[in-house]
Amino acid sequence: MYTLGIDIGSTACKCIILSDGKEIAGKGLYPLGTGTIGPKMVFESALKDAGLTREDIHTVLATGYGRFQFDGADSQKSEMTCHATGIHFLMPSARTIVDIGGQDIKALRLDAQGRLDNFVMNDKCAAGTGRFLDVMAGVLNVKTYELGPISDDAQSVVSISSTCTVFAESEVISLLSNNVRIPDLVAGIHASVAGRVAALVFRNGIVPDVTMSGGVALNHGMVRALSAELKTPITVHPLCQYAGALGAALIAYREATK
Ligand code: ADP
Repeated sequence: MYTLGIDIGSTACKCIILSDGKEIAGKGLYPLGTGTIGPKMVFESALKDAGLTREDIHTVLATGYGRFQFDGADSQKSEMTCHATGIHFLMPSARTIVDIGGQDIKALRLDAQGRLDNFVMNDKCAAGTGRFLDVMAGVLNVKTYELGPISDDAQSVVSISSTCTVFAESEVISLLSNNVRIPDLVAGIHASVAGRVAALVFRNGIVPDVTMSGGVALNHGMVRALSAELKTPITVHPLCQYAGALGAALIAYREATK
């Protein structure tokens, strides 16, 4: 039996097709969030990746910010539950998840069975999110995925005092005109995000093992900065950005077979 989980985020759509709740048969990612194009494109690319058609899929479960705007799903589930379920499948020892997406941050705690125990999330503000990093990458004229490798060459961490994205953008532009080393500046950008995220994570309490989900976890410079701020190791699974979609596909399977 094939089940499909679709995570319609604010910035990107992710899709996972599971075979019998065990094996990933196909996946897709489209760098556009809620709306009509992102969900449609990612749905089609996951079917193509799996070599399947819509008729082969038993159940579709949608999660993410735009889950209620998508009319192709049989049911919906919150991102918190889906991320917890997806991460527990990928990393059964994880008890704390820091999910940084395009526009929000969530800290989740799981119990030993992988059930969602507790969570906190930020208010709707770009500071500390993927959006902040995307804006800073734009100012530096690099791609977001280049930030991690650039920060590897940092010799020091530039302090960025503005927390607001708009003010921080001006601050980074003025630091650039003062010929600050770019790797040091990127390390400073990561440290600034890590500081905001850590404040939220501490509110929820940290239980090891700690992992990250969401697209920002693909930035190893960000993972390093957050690990330093939390004073705890963070292990990231390569499918971190798909955790919500995977959880949705798993829940769809469990609901279809109970
Ligand atoms: P959402 O579910 O809120 O739409 P995601 O969890 O998909 O967001 O994360 C999107 C964010 O992840 C982007 O804003 C970007 O900052 C970051 N991101 C995506 N891909 C990469 C990558 N390869 N390297 C670094 N950061 C990335």
